[in-house]
Amino acid sequence: MAGDYYEILGVPRTATEREIKEAYRRLAKKYHPDVNKDPGAEEKFKEISRAYEVLSDPEKRARYDRFGEAGVSGVGSGGVDFDVSDFVGFADIFETFFGGFGGVGSTSRRRGPTRGDDLRYDLTLEFQEAVFGGEKEIKISHLETCKACDGTGAKRGSKPRTCPTCGGSGQVRRATRTPFGSFAQISTCPTCGGEGIVIEAKCEVCGGTGRKQVTKRLKITIPAGVDSGTRLRVSGEGDAGTRGGPPGDLYVYLNVKPHPHFRREGINILSEITISYLQAILGCRLKVPTIDGDYELHIPPGTQPNTVITLEGKGVPKLGNPVSRGDHLLTIRVEIPTKITHEERELLEKLAKIKGEHNSKKGFEGFLESIFHR
Ligand SMILES: [Zn+2]
Ligand SMILES: [Zn+2]
Repeated sequence: MAGDYYEILGVPRTATEREIKEAYRRLAKKYHPDVNKDPGAEEKFKEISRAYEVLSDPEKRARYDRFGEAGVSGVGSGGVDFDVSDFVGFADIFETFFGGFGGVGSTSRRRGPTRGDDLRYDLTLEFQEAVFGGEKEIKISHLETCKACDGTGAKRGSKPRTCPTCGGSGQVRRATRTPFGSFAQISTCPTCGGEGIVIEAKCEVCGGTGRKQVTKRLKITIPAGVDSGTRLRVSGEGDAGTRGGPPGDLYVYLNVKPHPHFRREGINILSEITISYLQAILGCRLKVPTIDGDYELHIPPGTQPNTVITLEGKGVPKLGNPVSRGDHLLTIRVEIPTKITHEERELLEKLAKIKGEHNSKKGFEGFLESIFHR
């Protein structure tokens, strides 16, 4: 991904947080894949989101201003990430993006809000589930903001107080006199541990941490076409933030079980079918299993061993564009019998004799060779 993040959002380098947010909101509405079906829209939307991710975070923005892309790389890039937010709909994505910003900056907290941790969940899918997608219920355990104290950590009826030792700054200064002059030494406040506030009566529900471990069931939408190694991001389902900070995200790592008959190669499905040498010579009709169910296949007369028949559009839907599907590639194996009955042998020898007029080799083997061009 290239391009200046300010240019992408169309804002000057001096833009305020509010201007950046507004520019993002305007552009995201225009290019969101649910609204804009232009081929380039999804890429553009990702670019906008990436620019916003960096510029909306004062720390990342400062790094970006100083070091450019290199200062913020590795954040949300790489891997086979797939953002499920794209699939839960328009309203949801905006709620997730803007939900956490309300309290930021409006309170006089000394330390800024901190975003919660991202979490990982490993999910194993059946072959079919990965191909066609669907809803899946998972049970996760994450930290939620304590409802009893609204995340403050203070007992109901009481409030966290500004730390009397540091006056809320979280730091203490100590002057040290030495023969060379006096030095100011700054260290973390021992009373509040740098928080700037002290809680005298701790919330009994969360023990003063402001967060609580909660187990919950979560329905997630698996998009069609995922594969082992795909990561789904579920916005806001990581651990809750602290001091009004936004929650982290939940990353669902997918692993797909192998199928007894089908193999996957990207968006194509591969399988084999074995027919008799007579079916290969004379042609036949038979039902072959595909991911969509049985398919009536016509095998033309004279089909060679290891012929690959392509069943168009019977493969895996493309991730992000499920209307477009890969193919099913069917390899035809031809079985040569190891034992035949006396009657069959007589018939085949008769055939071999007919064939023998055009073939130097005699007998059954010569006959088979003439069929299969060995
Ligand atoms: Zn609490
Ligand atoms: Zn303090």
